[in-house]
Amino acid sequence: MRLFLTLVLLSLTACQSSSDGAGGDTGIRHLTVLYSNDEHGWMEGREPGRGAGDLLGLWREKEGYSEEGPFLLLSGGDHWTGPAISTWFEGESMVEVMNAMGYDATAIGNHEFDFGLDNLEARIAQASFPYLGANIRWKASDTIPSELGIAASTISEVNDVSIAIIGLSTINTPSTTNPINIVDLNFLDYEPVLRNAVAQLRQESPDLIFVVAHVCMAALRPLALAVADLDISLMGGGHCNELVAERAGETILLESNGNFRSYARAQFEYDLGSRRLLSSSFSIEQNEGGAADAPVQRLIAKWRSETEAQLSGVLGFSSREYPANDERLQRAVVESWLRLDNSADIAINNRLALRAPLPSGRLTLADVVGVLPFENTVVAVELSGAEILQLIAQGQRPFVAGLIRTENDWRLRGSGRLIDTAETYRVLINSFMYEGGAGYDAIAEFDANGFDTAIHYRQPLVDWLIEQDSSADRPLSLP
Ligand SMILES: [Zn+2]
Repeated sequence: MRLFLTLVLLSLTACQSSSDGAGGDTGIRHLTVLYSNDEHGWMEGREPGRGAGDLLGLWREKEGYSEEGPFLLLSGGDHWTGPAISTWFEGESMVEVMNAMGYDATAIGNHEFDFGLDNLEARIAQASFPYLGANIRWKASDTIPSELGIAASTISEVNDVSIAIIGLSTINTPSTTNPINIVDLNFLDYEPVLRNAVAQLRQESPDLIFVVAHVCMAALRPLALAVADLDISLMGGGHCNELVAERAGETILLESNGNFRSYARAQFEYDLGSRRLLSSSFSIEQNEGGAADAPVQRLIAKWRSETEAQLSGVLGFSSREYPANDERLQRAVVESWLRLDNSADIAINNRLALRAPLPSGRLTLADVVGVLPFENTVVAVELSGAEILQLIAQGQRPFVAGLIRTENDWRLRGSGRLIDTAETYRVLINSFMYEGGAGYDAIAEFDANGFDTAIHYRQPLVDWLIEQDSSADRPLSLP
């Protein structure tokens, strides 16, 4: 009798926890994965109505999402480098928002390293979800940097289904964040790491295995096929801002294009009895039409007013005004970009990129926003010497750092050598130019794989102005 009662209670519990309308078959469980990547601090949305609060509202309305429901919220990484509301707080605001949204796990993006390892450690400690990077190692000890809070994997229990989630970070991280920040770390090849991680996790007998990877589809697709024997049900990507919902063999691949503009979804039907995945499906959805979640909107409003307070903060003091077309002011901008990325040889900014004078007197962030008002980022491209010469001779001559004009030719400032028309150089430009603005259509043809650093084009100048530590007694002097 006691056994019978227990069985009845167990099956009642199973019915209740099967909150997805699985009908009489209490062994069938449903699970929905909602996936984003490359959020890049755009909690307010790149366009109105497409921010983090709108997305959570949409998830509640359209997907039936609730914290207790059969859902996993996963991210492919690159959370915080972006607009001031996130960058000026080194990601603290973004992690607070993602905590409130209820994320369950994330990959570690290259930009998670942008503000140094101490900051990454603080952000991971702040997050209520794990940051996963199974292929990250200390160079010295060949161990996972668990001191920073980084883990290889996690196991989530959702609707009685246990899901092992493994994280991967792009092996290109050393060239896509400030190299100083990751000098002590190695980023290992994906496949052996993944095989190792899955072998260890099998000891925990998970029902499903998922991967969150800050890895572009060009690498993730072949990886999924190469490890088809590992029975990985889902691999989420990131880093290249692609829109992907497809199958590679038996594995679902997902990627949303970033900035909270859209999300990817996968749904699974699992039989606890036979321990088999019965079916799965996937799609891409736009972040449009959701009624914003009020608590998340309040958080964002709080960080918006903090940002405004920062905007009125004093950065320095100038005893004179520098017009927008002043050579010294223009040079200060491109030179600040080169300081940001010392692997670049040259920086080029279009002539009309500066829109207001840098005033005399106290200098605030609001003044710098006036000088460089657009939502542009710094983009790194690989160009030949011949292509560079073509760009700097074209139309309204742009402002250039890293090259010195001699009588008839251009020399590299670093080496003093003539620019070699056949050699390739790393060049920093702004995203407006890369998109073909101001007649620069040729740049994207020269290098179709330009790398968006996600760093706002104004931020390096702001950092440089603060470093100058100028005051009324010691006013700024642009060289
Ligand atoms: Zn990335």
